[in-house]
Amino acid sequence: MKYGRTYNFSAGPATMPEPVLEEIRDEMMNYRGSGMCVMEMSHRSKVFQQIIDEAEADLRELMGIPDNYKVLFIQGGATLQFSMIPMNLMKNGKAVYIETGAWSKKAIAEAKKVGEVIVAASSKDKNYTYIPDCSDLDIPEDTDYIYICENETIHGVTWNKLPNTKGHVLVSDQSSMFLSRPCNVADYGLIYGGVQKNVGPAGLAIVIIREDLIRDDLTNLPIYLQYKTHADAGSMYNTPNCWAIYVCGKVFKYLKSLGGLGEMEKINIAKAKVFYDFLDQSKLFKGTVVPEDRSLMNIPFVTGDKDLDAEVIAYTKAAGFENLKGHKSVGGLRASVYNAMPIEGVEALVECLKKFEAEH
Ligand SMILES: *Cc1c(COP(=O)(O)O)cnc(C)c1O
Repeated sequence: MKYGRTYNFSAGPATMPEPVLEEIRDEMMNYRGSGMCVMEMSHRSKVFQQIIDEAEADLRELMGIPDNYKVLFIQGGATLQFSMIPMNLMKNGKAVYIETGAWSKKAIAEAKKVGEVIVAASSKDKNYTYIPDCSDLDIPEDTDYIYICENETIHGVTWNKLPNTKGHVLVSDQSSMFLSRPCNVADYGLIYGGVQKNVGPAGLAIVIIREDLIRDDLTNLPIYLQYKTHADAGSMYNTPNCWAIYVCGKVFKYLKSLGGLGEMEKINIAKAKVFYDFLDQSKLFKGTVVPEDRSLMNIPFVTGDKDLDAEVIAYTKAAGFENLKGHKSVGGLRASVYNAMPIEGVEALVECLKKFEAEH
């Protein structure tokens, strides 16, 4: 590993692509002859306008975002969207949520403060280890939208087939899977993600919203919480998170250079397979999620013994693998293997775990 870096399996903020970090380093003192660093620049400058415009254009190209969708860069992370979504989209005051883990649960709690929430399906009965069947949900006609968390970062489940919304608007939290595989944006009314899992530095959410869902009748809502404010101002109603937008733009270009999202999906499948194949043959470790709904990004696993789990965490840390402790609500271990984690990192971790198993 260059620069004495470790393999970092953190769920977020998470590992970044090294070529991107190197480019940022090279531009740190003087961004392309501007005489200053991007973090010192006016957001109203031509130079920064070009940075944000290119970031949006590259994201549109990567995801194939149709022209009738706006791309918004909003501060407050993914968490603020738990509130902004119901505040902006609940016209009839009613929404259907699917409960599949910790993050959809948090979104449900916030939406309940705004209107009526119908939890139409839940996997709580088995501690969120699967995605419930959503092919024929009971959806009231006046439901404003159906909400899912498409990849549950803590519980390690992913939707491989979207719910049947019966013509209603679909809203998806893609925070921990954003840009990990191709996505047909037209299937959704709104897609959002905090960027610190799979793209850039914390504190920024990217919201992709169909234009007809942006309302202009919400004048009583604080101005900053209206999507219209951000859409009308090109994400610069106030000073945006310039630094995060700059870094995300670099990552978009990097993903394009690797061949785009189809290529990322192939790489991510191959990478996750190395780990799941190991878990499936191991006599000591086991994955916690049903095979059909396993995440390509976040892989929770356990030995079945708390003390032994703690021993594994200490053992991997001593061997140079960081942040493998599972979230407190699931326990055990979790390896987050986002876009920027090289397959060599996963292979090295598997070797380390095999060694531990052989010794125990
Ligand atoms: C991390 C995460 C969030 C919260 O992100 P913040 O930027 O910390 O608010 C929301 N949803 C999912 C799926 C996440 O992984």
